[in-house]
Amino acid sequence: MSRASPVWHPFTQHGLEEPIPLVARAEGAAIFLADGTRVIDAISSWWVTTHGHNHPCITAAIAEQAHKLDQIIFAGWTHEPAERLARDLLAMMPAPLAHVFFSDSGSTSVEVALKMALGYWANRAAPRHRILVLEHSYHGDTIGAMSVGARGVFNQAYAALLFDVGTVPFPCEGHEQASLDALEAACRADNVAAFIVEPLVLGAGGMLMYPAWVLREMRRICAHHGVLFIADEVMTGWGRTGTLLACEQAGVAPDLLCLAKGLTGGSMPLAVTLATPAIFDAHCSTDPARQFFHSSSYTANPIACAAACANLAIWREEPVLERIGELARREAGLLADLSGLPGVANPRQCGTIAAFDIAGPASGYLADIGLRLRRIFRERNILLRPLGNTVYIMPPYCIDAPDLSAIKSAAIHAMTAIA
Ligand SMILES: *Cc1c(COP(=O)(O)O)cnc(C)c1O
Repeated sequence: MSRASPVWHPFTQHGLEEPIPLVARAEGAAIFLADGTRVIDAISSWWVTTHGHNHPCITAAIAEQAHKLDQIIFAGWTHEPAERLARDLLAMMPAPLAHVFFSDSGSTSVEVALKMALGYWANRAAPRHRILVLEHSYHGDTIGAMSVGARGVFNQAYAALLFDVGTVPFPCEGHEQASLDALEAACRADNVAAFIVEPLVLGAGGMLMYPAWVLREMRRICAHHGVLFIADEVMTGWGRTGTLLACEQAGVAPDLLCLAKGLTGGSMPLAVTLATPAIFDAHCSTDPARQFFHSSSYTANPIACAAACANLAIWREEPVLERIGELARREAGLLADLSGLPGVANPRQCGTIAAFDIAGPASGYLADIGLRLRRIFRERNILLRPLGNTVYIMPPYCIDAPDLSAIKSAAIHAMTAIA
């Protein structure tokens, strides 16, 4: 199959997709195509853009840092943006988290958390190897991150490389206790190093939501059995669920916390894994063999760190939580209007994430309904990418009422078109 462009895109079937639009610039809640067309970014460019595209404080910080220090080896060397970011981050995060390890994507922040958990047990001369996960979860696309995520068409070809994990059933409404009992039983076995979980919302699994009390119970069960609790807040962090962290709503603090996507406001690739003193101390000794063996070339890239510092400044100086609260209220109205439409099932919302399923047999990520919907939204200049038969909106926090109405009209049109 010959194509005009040599670029191979992620999660894209080049044999099916129509021409891929060329994006020239972005501002606020919109992106602009090379021909000038304005497109509303209804999914925050795959869940990363928080305050809006090209926030002036973040772009200024990037420009300023780019002129000072572009990149430096981070093993044995440090720089001001990384030091400042680590201090500022810890000031905002739950108290038991005291150490900041940098990497460059959500997937790597998860790999780091898994390696830290296993390293913790190995260095205490009480090795434990088993990882527990929640059914339908997604933690990234590298081999380790895929291993702790749901198995399916995404990773069938690589199944032989994925390590075995213990899977706890998703806490569906009405079956929460069964899920907690399964976690308790799994934790009782020897050899369990850690439980990794997406707090409150399972993103790529289909925007599946569960209540805060379940998260609080999961945390309690893990603590009771000495199983490390890894919170993957790569998607839920930075206000998505209505609070800075989703964990906050359950009043829990994890042993390891993964952050990426919105860490730089969605402007630059950067991730962190935060750890408690117990996990750091298990690696800290005069024995070189106990150090944490992980690095990537661009660990704590200074320009990305400067962008993240600017993001944190926005959180301190602008009324971000108020903005999020207002957006969540408007999205609730939008969802209520859509709920009555034929074909709309399971409308649900957590903070700025609003979702519903399309009723009918065509479920699963590859359901062709997804591609049809994407096309309908694209024709109406809305960037929206359903997960199989799950439609969700997750806009940047700066989106205004007219843009939100345009998304609603497009969704109504789409539901009518496919009915
Ligand atoms: C997106 C995502 C990841 C992976 O992040 P990348 O930056 O795409 O590698 C991991 N965990 C969760 C919960 C995510 O939503």
